[in-house]
Amino acid sequence: MTSDLLVRGGTVVGPAGARRADVLVRAGAIVAVEPDLAVDGGSDLEVVDAGGAYVVPGGVDVHTHFALPVGAVTSADDFESGTLAAACGGTTCVVDFAGAGREPWREALATWHDRARGRAVVDYGFHLTVTELPDDLEVATARFAELAERGVTSVKLYLAYPDRLMVDDDTLGRALAASRRTGVRVCVHAEDGARVEALVGEAIAAGRTGPEAIPAARPPTVEAESIRRAAALAGAAGAGLYVVHLSSAEGLEAVRAARAAGVDVHAETCPHYLYLDQSHLEAGEQDFVCAPPLRGADDREALWGALAPGDVEVVATDHCPFTIEDRRRGTGGTGWENFTQIPGGLSGVETRLSLVYQGVVSGRLSLERWVDATAGAPARLFGLDGAKGAIRPGLDADLVVFDPGATRSLDASGLHSRCDHSPYAGRVVTGWPALTLSRGEVVAADGEPVDPRPGRGRFVRRSRGPTAA
Ligand code: MN
Repeated sequence: MTSDLLVRGGTVVGPAGARRADVLVRAGAIVAVEPDLAVDGGSDLEVVDAGGAYVVPGGVDVHTHFALPVGAVTSADDFESGTLAAACGGTTCVVDFAGAGREPWREALATWHDRARGRAVVDYGFHLTVTELPDDLEVATARFAELAERGVTSVKLYLAYPDRLMVDDDTLGRALAASRRTGVRVCVHAEDGARVEALVGEAIAAGRTGPEAIPAARPPTVEAESIRRAAALAGAAGAGLYVVHLSSAEGLEAVRAARAAGVDVHAETCPHYLYLDQSHLEAGEQDFVCAPPLRGADDREALWGALAPGDVEVVATDHCPFTIEDRRRGTGGTGWENFTQIPGGLSGVETRLSLVYQGVVSGRLSLERWVDATAGAPARLFGLDGAKGAIRPGLDADLVVFDPGATRSLDASGLHSRCDHSPYAGRVVTGWPALTLSRGEVVAADGEPVDPRPGRGRFVRRSRGPTAA
């Protein structure tokens, strides 16, 4: 397949710190990580000069929505453009949410395999979106066990969107009990759906129908309340809980309180909650609609503050952009009449690594936390750490040679998403991947694709977590 490859002279960043080391790659895997490796590879050895650069594990983005249908429209990136954009930004593994609504779970998984197979440029896995579970816990547990057999070792339940996705507390409780028995991780979209519905109804009745009404209709308190409820159920079940896209200071306090009470809670935030705020919504900009919504400056600060010590462990993207035209068409397809019909979600899969790195540039984050939040922690939490998320012998050679001196504009014109706008337009970041390797093959250089072959990306079977006796 590929010749041996030596990544020479870079600064390798791992959990224990940064050190000068060479990385030797053979047959797509890392075989040695040592300073000044003496390699006698002859003409078969390809050498990459990483002098002056960081060598970090390829990013692991555990929250994407490729080719997701939402009513009449579909998210702008499919598995080809989405994973290509990921590669250009230094992400070599994504975990996408399989399931668009209440379709049978085997059908959802089959559909997602069909969408990804033959198209993905880098490796991928799936979470399953769970909208119903059998009442009998034994049957529910058997379903989770079958999922795990299929290499899908996490599920997400929505506590919002009563019309198409929301589950009740009994269902979440059963999922948590089944999680404890099977080691399948439970993730939640934590917004209190009933409360949101009431606030949305009030806003629309009062004629507040544009994006500017969203912050008050989905306030931080509905996130915090939902986290408290889910954490109480997790505590009662003796199961872990992973909160996706944490957006607010109040939600963060709920996470910390649950942990202090002994519940095993993990939290993820997204670049848009670290960089953007609700002023875009207040200005009526439809292209900044997402859920949970963008928040205030205090929330942003709180999330940055929690990222450094690892109180928020993971930064994933919730990459789910829609074109300007699709935003205008709305989920009904004929133009939106109120903000609930604007398809929500922002771009992020290509810009995440560098955006989080800006925290290193500004002194808010250590190199180690940057790498852990974008690769190490998501790999560990989602059963990928036997293959991804670190630079050590035996793992896949998913590597990024990251040039800390490179600058890049985050305008849509320079990015590879099929979405026609970027939430970070006008921004320039410092630090960008000079080279992205996926299982030892160069898939991007200087932020541009190299020989992108749809279908070279593989489905990754993830391992399950520990189970209770
Ligand atoms: Mn999402």
